[in-house]
Amino acid sequence: MQVSKSNKRVTLRSRPGDSGVTAVENFATEECPYPTDLPDGKLLVKTLCLSVDPYMRSRLNEKTRAAYMLPWKVGHTVDGGGVALVLESKHDCYQPGDIIQSFNLPWQLYSQVEVNQYFSKVEKSLVGDHYSLAVGAIGMPGLTSLLGIKHKGGVVPGTNQTMVISGAAGACGSLAGQIARILGCGHVVGICGTDAKCSMLTEELGFDVAINYKTQNVEERLKAACPAGVDIYFDNVGGEISDTVIMKMNKDSNIILCGQISMYNNLHRDYPPLLADNIAQRVKDFNIKRERFVVLTYAEEFPEGLVQLATWIREGKFKVKETVTEGLENTGAAFVSMMSGGNVGKQIVHVADP
Ligand code: NDP
Repeated sequence: MQVSKSNKRVTLRSRPGDSGVTAVENFATEECPYPTDLPDGKLLVKTLCLSVDPYMRSRLNEKTRAAYMLPWKVGHTVDGGGVALVLESKHDCYQPGDIIQSFNLPWQLYSQVEVNQYFSKVEKSLVGDHYSLAVGAIGMPGLTSLLGIKHKGGVVPGTNQTMVISGAAGACGSLAGQIARILGCGHVVGICGTDAKCSMLTEELGFDVAINYKTQNVEERLKAACPAGVDIYFDNVGGEISDTVIMKMNKDSNIILCGQISMYNNLHRDYPPLLADNIAQRVKDFNIKRERFVVLTYAEEFPEGLVQLATWIREGKFKVKETVTEGLENTGAAFVSMMSGGNVGKQIVHVADP
């Protein structure tokens, strides 16, 4: 296979600080050697696309406060979820030409990678040639929405439940609203940060109501949008928005505690962050279930979940939205943009074609 010998990578130049907002300047792009002399057990891969995700904000800190996440090291190559083409293999299970995905793919054009438990072949039967789906709707965000609703949502079809979703126009949120509908929720309300996102939710993705939390009074709009109260809350953001939703929740209702992005620049707090006393009291008085949800806990359900998500997409049951940034050197910028709402659907970085 003919390949260019030049190579490049993205490194961590500096940390934003535990309470800082990440800047593009925290990352650096540099030329690096093309990897040679592939060791036994490893693969030489060419990165096709990368995923930038909110959890990476913790990896920018010296301490991530989560055992399953290691901090990125200053001066070293950054890594995360991504899809790559195998160019050379010294591992029995992989051949040149395979497309793989990894949770620890270096932000580097050509790399030698180790096969670990967070590594697998991309099933063409599921994603076709649309490889970025493997880190989006037919990958971790899709599974998060599906398994979060399934395990923590308490959806009872035919009972006209109301589900509210915060971060509703993002990767998980945009899927969660559509999956809620498929699984039998009667009324779906999304909260997000721009009018264009609101229009997309109601005009394209089938949400009943969308609320712009930056320009509208969330409390008033929720009161009007949820006359029978809120039965299920898919919480991607935490903070003030979530406090407002919780105060509208019904007795014996459920929170899917997916994420708390509004607090990720303050992760020296415990996770999930403690609720204010009056909100915690409401949760107690109304017997609202609010249990931590981590998708990785349900790994044994991933294969079946991925087939389900791919089937729904093939059948046209839900739509997939992506924001694609071009070029490895813009991966840091894509992360910064996603953290401040620049994305619609899943934020992807396109690095190279196969
Ligand atoms: P998104 O694609 O939703 O991107 C993040 C979005 O968050 C932005 O587009 C922005 O949209 C919104 N946002 C940013 N800051 C704020 C804020 N202060 N208040 C309200 N909204 C804000 O990301 P993902 O779908 O990948 O992740 C969504 C959530 O799910 C995150 O909290 C993440 O940590 C969590 N997650 C949890 C998993 C689990 O296993 N529990 C697995 C995967 C993700 P807007 O324009 O609306 O502001």
